[in-house]
Amino acid sequence: MYMETDWKRVMSKKSKKGESSGRKSDRDSQLLMSENSGLETVNHYVELVSDRLELGVDMRKVLKTPYREITVQVPMKMDDGAIRLFFGYRVQHNGARGPYKGGLRFHKKVDLDEVRSMASLMSWKTALVDIPFGGAKGGVNCSCKMLSKIELEAISRSFMSKVQRVLGPTRDIMAPDMGTDEQVMAWMMDEYGKYHGHTPAIVTGKPISLGGSVGRESAPARSLVFLFQEAASEAGISSTKASVAIQGFGQVGYWTARFMRDAGCKVVGLATSDGAVCEPDGIDVEAAHEFISNGGSLIDFDGAEKIDLNQFYGLECDVFVPAALAGTINRKTVELLKCKMVLEGANSPTTPAADEALEEKGIFVIPDILANSGGVIVSYFEWVQNLQHFRWDEHEVSERLIDIVRRAYREARGRSLERDISLRLASYELGMERVAEAERTRGYI
Ligand code: NAD
Repeated sequence: MYMETDWKRVMSKKSKKGESSGRKSDRDSQLLMSENSGLETVNHYVELVSDRLELGVDMRKVLKTPYREITVQVPMKMDDGAIRLFFGYRVQHNGARGPYKGGLRFHKKVDLDEVRSMASLMSWKTALVDIPFGGAKGGVNCSCKMLSKIELEAISRSFMSKVQRVLGPTRDIMAPDMGTDEQVMAWMMDEYGKYHGHTPAIVTGKPISLGGSVGRESAPARSLVFLFQEAASEAGISSTKASVAIQGFGQVGYWTARFMRDAGCKVVGLATSDGAVCEPDGIDVEAAHEFISNGGSLIDFDGAEKIDLNQFYGLECDVFVPAALAGTINRKTVELLKCKMVLEGANSPTTPAADEALEEKGIFVIPDILANSGGVIVSYFEWVQNLQHFRWDEHEVSERLIDIVRRAYREARGRSLERDISLRLASYELGMERVAEAERTRGYI
């Protein structure tokens, strides 16, 4: 079972003291931090699993600390002539198993800690699914909703020009994440080419016309829905009739909704940054997607009823899919959930306190590093195709993707049953073991 950590000691003190009693102590503020920060969440599991794997002090330090962190200014002349200053980050967390790999996020709340947390997650994710990459992540604190296309292109190119020296197809390869897409990757590839010559393998998630792989856009959703189907019967859910609520209706959320619907399931709730809607008989996924793609706000979509966030979290459904921001399933919201399974599309959507509560409630959790791994797996395929100047067809991409996800699930589920630990801890264990082994065999530690 779990070993006691600082965080657990904080938890037990807090519950003895009572949630609402008086002013918050230092320990309570610490807990609040771990409730809110993705970095606290990831480091919580890194510490916990380091204890379980009995890693020495030096190895722990290396596994917890990023290899390289870059912060750059991105000053921009906006369309109206005003100058705005953005900040861009690239964190290369661990490269023992191969080139750094990870997405690039454009979101107004991006900061260095958020990027650090996601870079660390990438190291465990690539190792868990056993593809030859390390972990990295990047971000710019701009809100793409507020930018014109010209401004977005200028920010993308400016960021690439500032970090290109530490990137490379055998060094560090970027991909899309929240707020970025294949167009942003196309600009990035083009900008990198100005310094280093035509290099398609410098980014993945590119348009097909520029060397992108078929199936990349839908890949995180493919792994999510495959894993849902593998685990459904264990969670007491029908894999062909389940009801699903999805938070986030972007690349991950939309494709998950679509594949779930194709499997016969009903999407009964949807939420975006604009608000939430529900329809117990099932939302018309394509109609909602078209409405939003044409500039509509989800809450004005007339194929579903507008609800508030408490109602959204409390929807009667079999599967809840967080596919937006970190920390949305926290101590407060977890109490509202009525689902049988949480299928983590987003990175770090669940805080450690909420994770415990999910276990107590008997909700089956498929953790982020396993669930959404399809994205980095097909990115790996895209990189391989680019290096070989060769194209695979959709069938080959899908078959190979499912083979890798199936193997990773069997290993993680096997470990979780054998050691009586959660699927999340088993997944971290497998990932961290592999990275630690690479560190040792390279002779670093
Ligand atoms: P996206 O930018 O395409 O879509 C994000 C969605 O989240 C939008 O619908 C947005 O309205 C919604 N959203 C934002 N804030 C919200 C809020 N407060 N409440 C409800 N919804 C909100 O992003 P994406 O690529 O779909 O990424 C979503 C998540 O999946 C992120 O955590 C990302 O790290 C993770 N992920 C993405 C990929 C990928 O390849 N794109 C791969 C693995 C994991």
